[in-house]
Amino acid sequence: MCGIIGYIGKKSLDEVLIEGLKNLEYRGYDSSGIALQNFNDVQIIKSSGKIKELEKKLQEINLINSNIGIAHTRWATHGNPNIENAHPHQVGNITLVHNGIIENANELRQKLTKEGVKFKSQTDTEVLCALINFYYKNDISSAIKKALKEVKGSYALAILVKKDESIYAIKKDSPLIVGIDKDGYFIASDISAIIKYTNKYIVLEENELVKLSQNDYIITKNNKIIKKSIQSTEIDFESITKSNYKHYMLKEIMEEEILLEKTFNIYNDKDSLIDISKYEEIHIIGCGSAMYAGMVGKTLLEEKSNIRCYVECASEYRYKKIFYDRKTLVILISQSGETADTIAAMRKAKENKIDTLAIVNVKTSTIARESDYKIFIEAGKEIAVATTKAYLLQITIFSLLAYFSSINKHILKEINLKEEEKNILSHLKNILEQRKKYYEIAKKIFQEEDIYFIGRGIDYSLCLEGSLKLKEISYIHSEAYQAGELKHGTIALINKNTPVIAIISDQNIADKTLSNIEEVKSRGANVIIISTKKISNYENNIVVPKISDFFQPILIIPILQLIAYEVANLRNCDIDKPKNLAKSVTVE
Ligand code: GLU
Repeated sequence: MCGIIGYIGKKSLDEVLIEGLKNLEYRGYDSSGIALQNFNDVQIIKSSGKIKELEKKLQEINLINSNIGIAHTRWATHGNPNIENAHPHQVGNITLVHNGIIENANELRQKLTKEGVKFKSQTDTEVLCALINFYYKNDISSAIKKALKEVKGSYALAILVKKDESIYAIKKDSPLIVGIDKDGYFIASDISAIIKYTNKYIVLEENELVKLSQNDYIITKNNKIIKKSIQSTEIDFESITKSNYKHYMLKEIMEEEILLEKTFNIYNDKDSLIDISKYEEIHIIGCGSAMYAGMVGKTLLEEKSNIRCYVECASEYRYKKIFYDRKTLVILISQSGETADTIAAMRKAKENKIDTLAIVNVKTSTIARESDYKIFIEAGKEIAVATTKAYLLQITIFSLLAYFSSINKHILKEINLKEEEKNILSHLKNILEQRKKYYEIAKKIFQEEDIYFIGRGIDYSLCLEGSLKLKEISYIHSEAYQAGELKHGTIALINKNTPVIAIISDQNIADKTLSNIEEVKSRGANVIIISTKKISNYENNIVVPKISDFFQPILIIPILQLIAYEVANLRNCDIDKPKNLAKSVTVE
């Protein structure tokens, strides 16, 4: 799930590997390690905790003279995050790093134990390493293939073999790219690991085996050599630095205005987006914030474009009975385009011959490649683990899809979209400039241990994301409720000063939400209201300009994000790398 970087070439190896790991840190990890190899020796150095610790160790040790190496940041799935379980793992002739999860690791462990293998760690990865070693006689390609035939699960692997001056790599359901520059070759799970050195890369597809050597690389599939095109990315090293911001998250929120403008420029008429109005039913699938963006999309598409929608998280959708009995479109939302559950949901729809539409950020990703239609959000690289700008742009795409669908269905007469955009952008600029206001709110709530968000309709969907953002970066327990639901149980938890953040942007049901606010206020809650109309008698009221319903969420989202940011900052949290979280969840 986390990070892989490997290098063979003329550059300083430990520098390339450490730099690569640092640029993968944003994905979240709990331990790290590297392996350096020269003909006979393999030197493995591992550490739990931050890359800084690994770097310190490297400085204290005499490193072997080598120009081939692999490195890893681990996000534990099997076994605690400690040194023994950190990668690389080595069994016999094989040393490897692994992203992903081996689902039948226990079974394979038993089989190999019977064969006399002694395991040093609790990981599924060491089992896979032992299995490859078990089949390795002299032909590594065939050993890898035999081993992988027995394996269930997902993997991206970078492999070293004793007395072989190459790196081998292969993947299934977890991304891997080959980087190319004049001095050597890289293997990486993510372009950010290598962007400092090269922007040229090849995307590996399922079960293509690559062998990187000093002077060339060979990719084979089913034992046949294949030629693949070399791509180049526009992402530059600068765009993955923090500039003058304290955190990536803040930088990414502040980029929202310019990115929104870019999105409006690309998708500015109905021909620039796929026409979804012809579908009778839409399934919107995602995980976490992407699913919450889908919930906002559902409300807009149903209320404004009369298209029946169903939203589900991908981990449920992939296993449950789905009735594909209408003219259905399945929309998959994923920032990375590599979210394992969302990939599985997409494949399920495809097996059922249902059209799929991807809303993704990474153009080379699996979901982007495999879905029938795609809409790219132009968020650029998002480094902070907690999504902000990508979520905002996912919602913007839904706003535009709903807007154009309602025109196509003659529900709405075209408005002057250009004017509306100008209006939205100038309001957004103002909202982003008012950090002080959100800081003042944050000061009132950052020491609390429980916070509730309430809203109705589309506002409830926004509450879900506001609450998720707050809990993931500040570790405050937080929940979102449909405003009318709170009194059916959870109101028992409202005490004097319990913060309740309410959103009221939908004027049709504003009075109803206001009554619910009164209910919690009477129980002592410290109410903070984000609304499109001034609410009298409430001191903590952030008023957002009223714009067209299609686009209103765009002006509320940054406020929720900045409140969460200021709260986490006041609590001194590791905002860009919250504990236990990973940027792109490539395991089930
Ligand atoms: N499943 C492996 C482990 O727990 C790899 C996890 C990862 O992707 O970092 O070590």
